[in-house]
Amino acid sequence: MSAKGIFFLVAGPTAAGKTSVLKTLLERAKGLEKDISVTTRAPRPGEADGRDYRFWTRERFEQRLKQGDFLEHAVVHGMDFYGTLRGPIEARLDQGVDIIKDIDVQGVEQVRAKMPYPRSVAIFLAPPGPLELLDRFRSRGGETEEALQRRLASATKEVRRIGEYDYLVWNEVIESAVEEIEAIRRAERARSEGRTQDAADAARTADAARRERREAAFRKAWHVDD
Ligand code: 5GP
Repeated sequence: MSAKGIFFLVAGPTAAGKTSVLKTLLERAKGLEKDISVTTRAPRPGEADGRDYRFWTRERFEQRLKQGDFLEHAVVHGMDFYGTLRGPIEARLDQGVDIIKDIDVQGVEQVRAKMPYPRSVAIFLAPPGPLELLDRFRSRGGETEEALQRRLASATKEVRRIGEYDYLVWNEVIESAVEEIEAIRRAERARSEGRTQDAADAARTADAARRERREAAFRKAWHVDD
């Protein structure tokens, strides 16, 4: 493989199903790896250090930040630090491996400033409407009502920025969302390998047409008609 890998950024409100979609995708896709984020938040039951996240102390995070080791970082939900280490990603991309990660909107912005499209490709995984999202938050359990409301407020803020993404994937059925991301990756890989630029352009054009209809429905569901 001579072309460099592509960095796929998957954003969208928490509980939009990003974790399940990425898990299924990663089980199937070849030459695609997940970036493991660093976070200062505590592990949830069932989460393992080095697999789900790198769970670091605030001091360690701040020290590596000072050393310039993060490609991006953000405070998410006004509380915890999350970030992407520069070293492991750059090494794998140079080897032609594609990387995918779950990231928040602030992270997307920072990565894109340093690695603009098509080196990085930003995908917004759109959740259903706010009520369904709140139900999903609740069914996960383990969080106070205040924390849930904070998540909903973050979700609404993120939804307002869907226009900034390269692709919009509607996440009602996991399987379809996974297939759409696979198709996006095929098209973007073809472009980066210089094989079929036309195919990539066609995929993006088709996506743009679908996207217009979807975005309208989406904005209505979320009451964001600005
Ligand atoms: P959670 O705590 O529910 O696992 O994740 C909270 C949020 O942090 C999610 O929206 C997720 O996309 C975001 N996130 C996870 N890793 C990173 C990261 O490395 N950088 C940034 N900016 N956000 C991240």
